[in-house]
Amino acid sequence: MIRIENLTKTYGDLAALDTLNLEVNKGEIYCLLGANGAGKTTTINLLLGFIKPTSGNAFINEIDVVKKPKLTKNHLAYIPENLMLYPSLTAIENLDYFSGIANKKLKKHELEAFLVEAGLQESAFNKSVAKYSKGMRQKVGIAIALAKDAKVLLLDEPTSGLDPKASNEFGQLLQKLRQKGVATLMATHDLFRAKEVATTIGVMKDGQLKQQWSVDELSLKELEDSYLETMNYNSLQS
Ligand code: ATP
Repeated sequence: MIRIENLTKTYGDLAALDTLNLEVNKGEIYCLLGANGAGKTTTINLLLGFIKPTSGNAFINEIDVVKKPKLTKNHLAYIPENLMLYPSLTAIENLDYFSGIANKKLKKHELEAFLVEAGLQESAFNKSVAKYSKGMRQKVGIAIALAKDAKVLLLDEPTSGLDPKASNEFGQLLQKLRQKGVATLMATHDLFRAKEVATTIGVMKDGQLKQQWSVDELSLKELEDSYLETMNYNSLQS
């Protein structure tokens, strides 16, 4: 579903991403951890076609993201830290608009059903999203992913700033999408949520993937220790 091969992005002398190899298959959630500036957002921006790699390749559903950027976008949904919605439009209107861009012509009851599935309270459906909490906006993002029938979900710090209940609900929604076979790549600083939702966890530092585990391989405490060890080891070397 997501395949990254030797992906590299340099800015002058700086390797924002350095020969990254990574795969996220159907029904997997890959959580990418790493300090600020590790290369997580660069990875996601390359997959979205927002920036071009210096070298290497990336594929969404076996389609090259550099060669066919429009085609790959049909298969993916993207939820950043602050999801861009039209503030004066309601949830239904935003969903209608964004699913329309993905060539889905949905009736009102179908749009409502996706918002219900995403866990948004029905009383909010026809209110402008300007008044929404962050958690509610993220639910609209999930509804857009569901309406698009996205096979790949890219998330950049989606739970940052969410309260624990909203973060828990968001995690449950990711599991729902996972059960539908969606492949998810999530950049996050939230070790706890990563341990809760991931099937695989990777740690990046200085543009490189330094560690990778299957989630069952380690406890939350071991994850934290290994994360800190990776960060400290590298800072001692530099
Ligand atoms: P954060 O957790 O803060 O979001 P990150 O892991 O997402 O960090 P990136 O945003 O991918 O990190 O940045 C990786 C490196 O590339 C950083 O050193 C950053 O300063 C650098 N970088 C990113 N974009 C550019 C750019 N357009 N020009 C120059 N350097 C850049």
